[in-house]
Amino acid sequence: MRPSRLADIQALADGVWLLPGRFERDRQPDGNSVLLQGREGLVLIDSGRHAEHTGALVEWARSRGQPIRVVLNTHWHLDHLGGNVLLRGAMPGLRAMASAAVREAVAVRMPRTVEDLRRMLAEPGLDVATRRMVDIDLALLQQRAQLAPDELVADAPHDLSPAGRPLRVGVERGVSGGDLWVLDRASGTLVIGDFVTLPVPFFDTACAELWREALARLGELPFTRVVPGHGPVMDAETFRRYVRAYGRLVDCSASQDSVAACATRWAEDLGPLLPEASRRGAEAMLGHYFETVLRAPPPQRRRHCPA
Ligand SMILES: [Zn+2]
Repeated sequence: MRPSRLADIQALADGVWLLPGRFERDRQPDGNSVLLQGREGLVLIDSGRHAEHTGALVEWARSRGQPIRVVLNTHWHLDHLGGNVLLRGAMPGLRAMASAAVREAVAVRMPRTVEDLRRMLAEPGLDVATRRMVDIDLALLQQRAQLAPDELVADAPHDLSPAGRPLRVGVERGVSGGDLWVLDRASGTLVIGDFVTLPVPFFDTACAELWREALARLGELPFTRVVPGHGPVMDAETFRRYVRAYGRLVDCSASQDSVAACATRWAEDLGPLLPEASRRGAEAMLGHYFETVLRAPPPQRRRHCPA
């Protein structure tokens, strides 16, 4: 196992801390994790995937003599949920809360993924780095009963006080079929999972139009900062910039403009949010998503949209 990431946990506001997720070469990502101090212990939003990420959260909580009472998972992707396995072992009595889409993914989608990954491992030419990534995910998926939520979060925005920390929560759709958002009332911190990703939106399990509608509603919430699923914390103005760029990107995908032209506009719209070094990678990824989702024939384009 790699060294713990304990030293990377940083304070965002009074009673609010962030462990930034990492995305390294030849490794699958960890999402950002947020810790909140409640009257009766800690609330965690997203548990990461790798042991050095989740382990750091556990170590940090123990060093403060605080149990993690509740984990809220924004969605079912393993970079936000996989850490629940380690967490349950380390924090007896932990309650996991998530949308119904997480329960469904555990029951229906994950068994199929296990089969897919086993088939991949059986391929003789599989490279070592990919094999390592598949092994990590397979180990988590084989323990998927521990990834299922203990309690479901209802869709309509409502108040919740896990471990005595007053939150407003709700479930949107667009990225994964059920995307939980969490607004910490005291600090104005809005945690939105993968509604914001860079260098481009990740459309793999997405419904592009629902995503746009969800971003518009999220923009109405009374927040002062946004913690995306990956990448740096945003102020309100930066979030609005992303929302506008997202809408223009989806519009561009529906026009006759080339991928290169849409990628240039996306980069211009994001400005400093998209570092120069990421632009070429962004264009390549947009090319992939235009082909497989945004400009695919309708059944494929809308395969993650409600009927
Ligand atoms: Zn993610």
